[in-house]
Amino acid sequence: MATLDPGDWAQLRALGHRMMDDMIDHLAGLRDIPVWRPMPDDVRNTFKKPLPAAPTDMNAIYEMFSERIKPYVTGNTHPGFLGWVHGGGNPVSMLAELLAGAMNANCGGRDHVGIVVERQVIAWAAELTGMPPSSSGVLLTGSSMANFVALLCARYAALGEQARQTGIGSNQLTAYAAATAHRCIAGAMDMAGIGRQALRLIPVDANYRINISALKSAIADDVAAGKQPFLIVGTAGSVDVGATDDLNALANIAADAKLWFHVDGAFGALAALSPRLKPRLAGIERADSIAFDFHKWAQVTYDAGCVLIRDARIHLATFAQKTNYLAPAARGLAAGEPWPCDLGPDLSRGFRALKIWATLSAYGAEAFGKIVDDSCELARHLARRIDTSSRLERAAPVALNIVCFRVHGYTDAKLATLVADLQESGRFVPSTTILDGRLAIRAAIVNHRTTLADINGFVDAILEYPD
Ligand SMILES: *Cc1c(COP(=O)(O)O)cnc(C)c1O
Repeated sequence: MATLDPGDWAQLRALGHRMMDDMIDHLAGLRDIPVWRPMPDDVRNTFKKPLPAAPTDMNAIYEMFSERIKPYVTGNTHPGFLGWVHGGGNPVSMLAELLAGAMNANCGGRDHVGIVVERQVIAWAAELTGMPPSSSGVLLTGSSMANFVALLCARYAALGEQARQTGIGSNQLTAYAAATAHRCIAGAMDMAGIGRQALRLIPVDANYRINISALKSAIADDVAAGKQPFLIVGTAGSVDVGATDDLNALANIAADAKLWFHVDGAFGALAALSPRLKPRLAGIERADSIAFDFHKWAQVTYDAGCVLIRDARIHLATFAQKTNYLAPAARGLAAGEPWPCDLGPDLSRGFRALKIWATLSAYGAEAFGKIVDDSCELARHLARRIDTSSRLERAAPVALNIVCFRVHGYTDAKLATLVADLQESGRFVPSTTILDGRLAIRAAIVNHRTTLADINGFVDAILEYPD
């Protein structure tokens, strides 16, 4: 019989312990390694091999990991990582992934503890965002999927079962979001069969918040033209500059026009854990749905996205499917409806909830409020250093944890070269964005390991960059 378990468990145990020691050393010593390094061609090419027919010794595989994988990952665990909006992960989540791997639970459904833990995580998510305890939700890969799932619920709320059975037909659904909304919103419109062009991208004001009067006119114009507005997407923490729309104003418009109100709070929703920042999110608790990630500001290891739907019946009605081999039962393992597979597109799903539950339990919610506050404080410090330097200029207001800026006199190409040089130096990884048609350096402070000294080192590295 071909089993995959070892003949000698002691040997596996020894290797497992070595891996554990090495990974704990790795996390403890992050500061001593480059944040990121380019991958040499010979490393890239070692992976190009035909499907292995014969076994490879696990020690050799681990050596391959240590030498050719570990040094070349994204680097978002590192305190010098300031690019995009990436979470830093945490040791508890790493260990919980090992435990989840050992359980190998399929959390698509059935009556077992994986589902119970996931429901608890969803209840905590509702509590932290101010959604009612009766809200429904499901864990997904990330906010791209969470926004998509919410949009499908909004489509169901507008068209009912017809949308699931025959598609949107001749209904001319239209949705509204700020021009700076994340690209996944247009992607969701496309995947939902409504089309990207039916997403009205509304201009933003000087603070990168959706222009409310422009939104109202766009809705009125569409109604006058015989379209069917169905959804307003507000952003809590925009991906390029960290702006938050006036969520109460959006909730009011949605209520008046009977539209679904969705909030993309991918990272910004977690600001609700900071007593100081929570007022900025006022109105989020009125949303019909919220998308956010545990893998960004909540530092859970990738991937860990979450969607919350206020009306649990709509959530279930949007995805539920009956099949003979998945028939639920009153008792036994097939009991315990509703199953997560009836709340989203996935059937088989891993035990994502365990690392989230363990992380929130181990550190407590207040720790994440503190991390959010600290990130924003570091962003303000970075902004001050930019504002007091004659060589640097800010490119956008700092609302939360993202700072966009430029070097005086640099063309887009020169700025891009500076960013790539900095990344390749292994010291800091910022990213870029385009604001007002010009490139800007974008530093997103998300990682709980990033300190004031890192931010100062980052500014100094830019100021020392040869002109
Ligand atoms: C990161 C982000 C997303 C996408 O989330 P993923 O987890 O990367 O899929 C969507 N919206 C905003 C505002 C984001 O910051």
